[in-house]
Amino acid sequence: MKEKIESLMELSDKQFGYYIFSHDPIRNKVDVKLKEEIIEKSLECGKKVAKNLKKEYGFKNIVEYLKVLDLELYKKDNNNGIEYIYFGTYQKPNKITIYTNNIKMGTDLVKKWDLNILKGIKLRDIIIAHEIFHHLQEHDKSLYINTNKITLWSVGKFKYRSKLVAQEEIASMAFAKELLNLDFSPNVLDVLLLYPHNKDLAVKIYESIIDSLPKE
Ligand SMILES: [Zn+2]
Repeated sequence: MKEKIESLMELSDKQFGYYIFSHDPIRNKVDVKLKEEIIEKSLECGKKVAKNLKKEYGFKNIVEYLKVLDLELYKKDNNNGIEYIYFGTYQKPNKITIYTNNIKMGTDLVKKWDLNILKGIKLRDIIIAHEIFHHLQEHDKSLYINTNKITLWSVGKFKYRSKLVAQEEIASMAFAKELLNLDFSPNVLDVLLLYPHNKDLAVKIYESIIDSLPKE
C-alpha cells in the first residue's frame, strides 16, 4: 500500500480532478471537453483564492488564518458516522471541526511508512485549509465555482440549472495545496487517512482513482 500512496503522490491536480468529477451526481450532463474546462477552471479558482489570501496576510501558520477569518476550530476525537469517516467538516457560519483521532491514525501511518514527501507536513493543516475554502466560498458568490452551472433540462425559455458539487471539491483541494505550498495533491489523503480505518475501502478508492484517469 505504501507504493500505491507514493504513486498517488505523483498524480497531477488535474488527474485528481477527473477522479472527483467521476463522483458528481450530474457528471453525465457534461461532455468530455466541458469536463476538462470545468476541472481546469475550478483548480484555477481555488488557487487564486489562496494566492489572494496569502497576498493579504502571508501567514505561515494555519491557525493565524482561522483568527483573521473569524473561524472557530473545534476538535472531536471521532465522528460517529458508520457510513463515512470524516476528517474535517465546515458548519455555517463559522465553525470548522476536525476529527483528531482519525487524523492521528494517518499521521502515525506516515511515520511508520516513512513517507518522505509528507515529512514536516501536518495533515491537520491540510484538512483545515480544505474547510477554510468552504467557508470562503460562502462569502464570495462571484467565484467561478459558485457561478458556473449546468443546464439539466429546459422547457421553452425555462431552464433548470445546477452547480456541480465536484467544482468546489476540486477548488478546495487546489486552495489547500497553494495555501500550504504542497508538492502533491491533497487528494492523496482520501486514501491515506482512510487506510487505517478500512483497508479494503482504501484500496478500492485507490483503484477508482486510477480508473477515473482519462485514457490516452
Ligand atoms: Zn470539501
